[in-house]
Amino acid sequence: TIAFLNGEYMPLSEAKISPMDRGFLFGDGIYEVIPTYAGNPVGFKGHTTRMAQGLEAIEITNPYTAEQWQDILSNLVSKNQTFIESGNIGVYFHVSRGTDTKRFHAYPKHIAPTVFGFAFEIAPPQPTSKTDVKPFKVALQQDKRWQRCHIKSTSLLGNVMHYQAGVDAGVNETILYNGDGMITEASSCNVFMVKDGAISTPPLNHELLPGITRAIAIEAFKQAGLVVTETWFSKEDLLNADEVWLTSSSKEVAPVVEVDGHVIGNGEVGDVWEKAIAAYHSYKFKA
Ligand code: PMP
Repeated sequence: TIAFLNGEYMPLSEAKISPMDRGFLFGDGIYEVIPTYAGNPVGFKGHTTRMAQGLEAIEITNPYTAEQWQDILSNLVSKNQTFIESGNIGVYFHVSRGTDTKRFHAYPKHIAPTVFGFAFEIAPPQPTSKTDVKPFKVALQQDKRWQRCHIKSTSLLGNVMHYQAGVDAGVNETILYNGDGMITEASSCNVFMVKDGAISTPPLNHELLPGITRAIAIEAFKQAGLVVTETWFSKEDLLNADEVWLTSSSKEVAPVVEVDGHVIGNGEVGDVWEKAIAAYHSYKFKA
């Protein structure tokens, strides 16, 4: 596949950065993953806006305008079409603070950020029928990450460890709760639940990433006339929910049928999920 590195396109195997890059030494950078289907991106504006806000929060000058990011995305998609025949292409963008001559914690002045992008195959759009979709099973853990989870930092060790705990438990993801027992998000997704027909998801704060899929889903549900609120719910509420869903750029809206060994609802994908995924598909390219 073809990658982008510091203004140039090249085979991914030829893309090289220095071990003195602060992305490598400190995880000092911001990233995004933007899904595209048959060349059409989902949530491009949301993703580039969030990246700009993350870069601003850590005082890295955004190297490109939204139009330039759009060009890089289009080029990565078109250059990789022959390698990724399904046309379900995720575009990864990564901006690290750059390469320094010494290892020193403080932000160095006058170094240029390292900008990297590559394309990879993502799952096809979710099927719309509950009999065709592959449901998820998840673990449940107290969130042991940091207090700036709203920043999409490349420092992902906390997320990686939570995700691995799920893999070790034989499930697909790990949903997280805070010190008050309230659900925040999952290690790589946002979380929704349904009780008595009402859909809820935790409100945004520093404990969770403002997911672009989450935002698109909320808008899509409202437009379809579904009731959705941003409210906190506890891990007990989650275990007693009728339905639980995960959202992310690569999973769209994914149903969960088991949390920490507890069956959710009747153990099958729910009816509200079918309405939700239909609403999501009909709105996602308009977001
Ligand atoms: N939370 C975390 C911790 C994530 O890493 C992600 C992205 N994989 C999400 C939520 C979902 O965000 P988005 O919908 O923008 O992909």
